[in-house]
Amino acid sequence: MRYVNIISNSNFESRKVTGKLIKLLKQNGFTPTTDFREDGELTICIGGDGAFIKAVNRTGFSPIPIIGINTGHLGFYQEIRPVNLNDFIKKYLEGNYFTEKLHLVGAEVFTKSRNFILHAINEIVLKSQHSKVIHLNVFVERNHLEKFSGDGILVSTPSGSTGYNFSSGGSIVYPTMEAIQITPLAPITSSAYRSLPNSMVIPGEFITTLVPEKRYTNSSLFVVDGMEYTYRNVKKVNFRIADKKINRIVLDRDNYWNNLKSKFL
Ligand code: NAP
Repeated sequence: MRYVNIISNSNFESRKVTGKLIKLLKQNGFTPTTDFREDGELTICIGGDGAFIKAVNRTGFSPIPIIGINTGHLGFYQEIRPVNLNDFIKKYLEGNYFTEKLHLVGAEVFTKSRNFILHAINEIVLKSQHSKVIHLNVFVERNHLEKFSGDGILVSTPSGSTGYNFSSGGSIVYPTMEAIQITPLAPITSSAYRSLPNSMVIPGEFITTLVPEKRYTNSSLFVVDGMEYTYRNVKKVNFRIADKKINRIVLDRDNYWNNLKSKFL
């Protein structure tokens, strides 16, 4: 059996595309399933970039190759247009595609009693609850860099760099690069506080440590690919590129550059 996992959001267009896709896959000898199977040879996500992010999070960043059909806005993760389903299946059967490894960012949260591991395909943000200014000490490879004051620090993957990171003044980093980007959110730069005003792109294996000042240990908020988490007594957080990766199927590499131009210019 050639199982193909289908994960779709619930909007009308996505459900229409799912119906068509299931029919086409069956005609071409595949067994499509909407119950995620670990022995699937491919996962197809239908929706916008938001749907892709949710799908990879919910499936535990599975290594099964994944491709997206875009029914949202301009999609960076979602390459295939619904009108091109036949062409996509033909190219897939011919092996006429690339597999790009997309890096995740990992965070280890150290609290007074235990540690927690977080992963994200776009970004992990550390900020203060209730829209307060947060004060953090920032270290790179154990070297103290700055005492940050502002809304928070966003740590983005290369493929997430066109999301929240870009809106926050961060740079675009090509998705397959092994790097992470540390982007300040509304940093305060005054005679009282001095934080770097721009983002930094650093090697993925470097460990960036954020240490909240004592009074923020119970009021810090983590936003992981858009989902919020809180922990009590946060002592420090280590960020680096995770060992886990996802395998994204790409039919046309030029699509990335066309997307950049159409979405942002
Ligand atoms: P969402 O509605 O699922 O996504 C918000 C917007 O971000 C959508 O337009 C989405 O594109 C786009 N997006 C997501 N990942 C992207 C990427 N890698 N490159 C370019 N655009 C991308 O919102 P959500 O559930 O709260 O959060 C999910 C993501 O939204 C986060 O991971 C974050 O990157 C992004 N976000 C952006 C801002 C901001 O720009 N100020 C603020 C919060 C969160 P589609 O329309 O194609 O789905």
